[in-house]
Amino acid sequence: MNYLITGGAGFIGSNLVHLLVEQGHNVTVLDFLTYAGNLYSLADLEGKDNYFFIKGDIGDGPLVSHILTDRGIHGIFNLAAESHVDRSIDGPAEFIKTNVMGTFVLLEAVRAYWNGLSTEDKGAFRFLHVSTDEVYGSLGDSGLFTETTAYAPNSPYSASKASSDHLVRAYHHTYGLPTVTTNCSNNYGPYQFPEKLIPLVIHNALAGKDLPIYGDGSNIRDWLYVMDHCKALAAAMGKGIPGETYNVGGNSERTNLQIVHTLCDLLDSKRPKADGSYRDQITFVKDRPGHDKRYAIDASKIKEQLGWTPEETFNTGMEKTVNWYLNNQDWVNRVTDGSYRMERLGLGDEK
Ligand code: NAD
Repeated sequence: MNYLITGGAGFIGSNLVHLLVEQGHNVTVLDFLTYAGNLYSLADLEGKDNYFFIKGDIGDGPLVSHILTDRGIHGIFNLAAESHVDRSIDGPAEFIKTNVMGTFVLLEAVRAYWNGLSTEDKGAFRFLHVSTDEVYGSLGDSGLFTETTAYAPNSPYSASKASSDHLVRAYHHTYGLPTVTTNCSNNYGPYQFPEKLIPLVIHNALAGKDLPIYGDGSNIRDWLYVMDHCKALAAAMGKGIPGETYNVGGNSERTNLQIVHTLCDLLDSKRPKADGSYRDQITFVKDRPGHDKRYAIDASKIKEQLGWTPEETFNTGMEKTVNWYLNNQDWVNRVTDGSYRMERLGLGDEK
């Protein structure tokens, strides 16, 4: 199949590109290479016949239209987004621009392209919109988010994702566009930008820096290994029913403090410090405003209807993740010293 992956140079996108290229699909990546886009995450695919990279904005309608036609696209995985909650609190405008307006422009271009397809190709086409469980707001001590939980986003990030989810829904109900939406819990694994909790903690621990934890560390998230999310996306693309939404989660609720303790303990066993434990570096910092208390996912619909199930447990996924960061310090260093941005501009040699 000919797939377009928007945001394919980001964390989840680059893992998905690897999965689909390995499965033999023709993969075109459209990515604007914001600070979160990293061509080093895709460097091993350069030169492969079934991988093609285009730098561009999902908000550029003529460019998207050209790509869809030129590459004969059969399905789109939309992962392009501003994705970091803290950044959305400091500056929401970019989140509205890309997540809301960008998704709208993308949908318009896709609608026009889809209308021009043959009846058979129209039926097989899918627009898969990749969203988050954060659109549902915060849970109390019990209960799980299901596909029918009312949306109640609390951060500019989750509000912008909720808006895009509603646009996608409307394009199915109004225009018949075969859309599928997935709402997934927190991902972890290779190629994650080290501003997010897990790679940040691994990086800071090894660098001897503080390990910052918001509030008292009791906020709860459900965690899923990124490649399991990518396999859920592949299942939703192949078997998802148009107009449906699917919750994706790892059934692995942990407090932030438990996550940091797990990482410290893994690092203590794999890369012991001369004295003491990495846990000694933990510091508690002022809580994020509007910090949701608990997210948890009921993923039974995608399991029962699409036959998806996570392959990693929390323990095996975390071990793989720590091993990956330990074995790929050059990737981390390029992000932390900023040289990955030089490379994306073709200035890598001038560093
Ligand atoms: P990321 O920030 O790592 O990657 C986003 C990518 O989108 C980057 O490569 C960036 O360059 C690109 N991009 C940004 N604006 C663009 C634009 N206007 N046009 C084209 N490309 C653009 O994000 P991620 O963590 O990989 O998340 C991907 C998607 O999955 C997002 O939509 C996010 O909301 C969703 N999601 C993420 C998680 C998670 O835990 N990371 C969980 C559930 C859902």
